[in-house]
Amino acid sequence: MDVQLGRIRFIQGDNGGKYPFNHSVYLEGKDCRVIIDPSCGLQKLSDLKQKEKVDQVWLSHWHEDHMGFLYLFEHCPLRISEKDFPPLTDIEIFLDWYNIKDEQLRELWKNIVLNNFNYRPQKDALFFRDEETIDLGSLKVQVIATPGHTPGHLSFFIPDEEVLFLGDYDLTTFGPWYGDLYSSIEQTIESIRRLKSIPARRWMASHNTGLFEENPGKLWYDYENVVYQREEKILNFLKEPQSLDEIAGAWLIYGKPREPREFFESNERALVGKHIEYLERTGRITMDGGKYIRI
Ligand SMILES: [Zn+2]
Repeated sequence: MDVQLGRIRFIQGDNGGKYPFNHSVYLEGKDCRVIIDPSCGLQKLSDLKQKEKVDQVWLSHWHEDHMGFLYLFEHCPLRISEKDFPPLTDIEIFLDWYNIKDEQLRELWKNIVLNNFNYRPQKDALFFRDEETIDLGSLKVQVIATPGHTPGHLSFFIPDEEVLFLGDYDLTTFGPWYGDLYSSIEQTIESIRRLKSIPARRWMASHNTGLFEENPGKLWYDYENVVYQREEKILNFLKEPQSLDEIAGAWLIYGKPREPREFFESNERALVGKHIEYLERTGRITMDGGKYIRI
């Protein structure tokens, strides 16, 4: 259900805001009207375009499921963190940032991003400054840098309405994603804690539940804890020496193989790879003869 909170509209995504959709947010400033992450659904965004003014498009980060219908607003300036802009300029950079090396998977993923997510390379954009406050006219928005999920991921706090837009720190039971080339586990944890500390009264996330009109409370801890649970499962598995292939093949994160298989295999490997890198860097595992083992 769409919900209007003062000058802020939560636009519920198709399929409950589950991937490949998200929930979008419309900010109706007196001087400037903004759509954040136009990927909630074609019908709703076409209606919005027809009935309301849209002056700018803001993206919380560079992922495809946040810009599926960006092309509807091609006439509007695009605003994003400078750190997350490179993948929007070139599909090859986009694929590189997902760390997809396998040629076949790369080709498959490229077609999906181009055809299902309507990817079009962007020439230029306006950039947010981290922590700046933007006045849209009777509506002030504070830009909160929340790296980790992506290097330039942004959240937005609207103090007048006590609304905090979390973006992809979405408090789902699956937990956070930090499997891209430039994602970071440590920064993800810091960003979750930062968001939790902001004095909001209502929270909007990009997927699933989406709108929280009461403090998510325990969900904050559960969400962060997923990171430690994943780590623990990997450490347990490394009581015996295991190769990266063997660890990824154990489906410790997703629990079991999922379809489409090649995508989930790639996701599992990406998340496991980040944990392995982190555990090795913090001296808790080591590699010996091509296999990892707990220290
Ligand atoms: Zn994302």
